[in-house]
Amino acid sequence: MNCELISVGTEILLGDIVNTDAQFLSREMAALGISVLYTDVVGDNRERLSDTLRRALSRSDIVILSGGLGPTKDDLTKEVCCETMGVPLREDARALAWIEEYFRRRGTPMAEINRKQALVPEGGTVFYNSRGTAPGCAVEKDGKCVILLPGPPRELNPMFEEGVRPYLLKKYAHGAIVSRSVRTFGIGESAMATRVSDLLDRQNPTVAPYAKSGEALLRVTARADTSQQAAEMCDAVVAEIRSRLGTLIYGVDTPGLEHTAVELLKKSGRKLGIAESCTAGLIAKRITEVPGASEVFECGIVSYSNDVKVRVLGVSEHTLAQQGAVCADVARQMAAGALRVSGADLAVSVTGIAGPDPSEGGKPAGLSYLALTDGVRTFVRKVTTGHSGPGSREYNRYVSSSNALDMVRLYLQGETDQIGNL
Ligand code: ATP
Ligand code: MG
Repeated sequence: MNCELISVGTEILLGDIVNTDAQFLSREMAALGISVLYTDVVGDNRERLSDTLRRALSRSDIVILSGGLGPTKDDLTKEVCCETMGVPLREDARALAWIEEYFRRRGTPMAEINRKQALVPEGGTVFYNSRGTAPGCAVEKDGKCVILLPGPPRELNPMFEEGVRPYLLKKYAHGAIVSRSVRTFGIGESAMATRVSDLLDRQNPTVAPYAKSGEALLRVTARADTSQQAAEMCDAVVAEIRSRLGTLIYGVDTPGLEHTAVELLKKSGRKLGIAESCTAGLIAKRITEVPGASEVFECGIVSYSNDVKVRVLGVSEHTLAQQGAVCADVARQMAAGALRVSGADLAVSVTGIAGPDPSEGGKPAGLSYLALTDGVRTFVRKVTTGHSGPGSREYNRYVSSSNALDMVRLYLQGETDQIGNL
């Protein structure tokens, strides 16, 4: 069983938007064990779309199109697909009622052009849209399956989860598929892959490495007759991975480091204070994205200027003058200041060079110092990402914030010898 993706939209061809739908769908299909062999991008153009679909149908079993299901003239995907496949369209009463209700709730009248969004292929399966107006659909003909999905990721992603995945599982997967994401911090993708290289050759479960925003993760996917069997097969491999990677793993199926940190803070009944220089609130933002953060987060201080580092956090002017703002001692003093000001049980701090210039005051972009203190012990970590140039500023700041969260979780897990490296 193989699959081809067609992303429809002139915006993608012009480079105005990044084709994240193709990335999302490729990953999801791989997790279902369905190989994506081709991905195409085509503009909002009748002929080229029809040609692309015809070629896709000649070589692929499943074709997924995304984009162009909107109400306007340039939204042609459904019409062109049905024409190309020789499948008539019909109005779907439930989709129409949903669209009318969607506008009623927003207090705006439905434009007549929105009516066309309720058209679906005759004999197809409809995927109702919980976040927008256009329903998606699947239509089968001559042993081929064509799936149409709306372009906006906030509509496409849940539609895939709620409608398309169950549809594909029922149709193409015999049995059940379960996957687990093993998330690590503090090891690169290739170093991680080396430690589990024998597992990467396995067929069922499969183990695949990914790198994402300074983190490495392993996706374990098993196929079996029942989901319980598949889950057990996954769990056995996850246990093996745990024995190899140990505390580098911060969670399995966890959304991110901030979730692990908040969860551990809650469990331990401790509160956190933060002092941030180069990340300017990013650590606090990530912590407060987790529901229930108010139980564990006391305050965050964005001490961007040296003056505030001195006045609010009590950093020594002498240290700043001697070593500059980006050094281990300043990180240490910032953490002590954050603990005092916040009255929390634990404080973490970061000072660094975000970039994009390769260096600043003789210090390289991507250098940061972080400190964590509980008032008795203080741990300091030096990080060098080596990244400068375009995109580095965002990356370096994110990686610094991840390191701070990692220090918090290691402290709370009692792994004190791994928190600092200086
Ligand atoms: P709408 O009803 O919003 O018009 P649509 O299904 O017609 O939805 P498009 O008009 O193709 O979809 O795209 C609408 C928006 O969805 C784009 O402006 C873009 O923000 C997002 N989008 C579309 N295709 C992609 C894609 N392949 N990857 C990421 N985002 C996309
Ligand atoms: Mg559109």
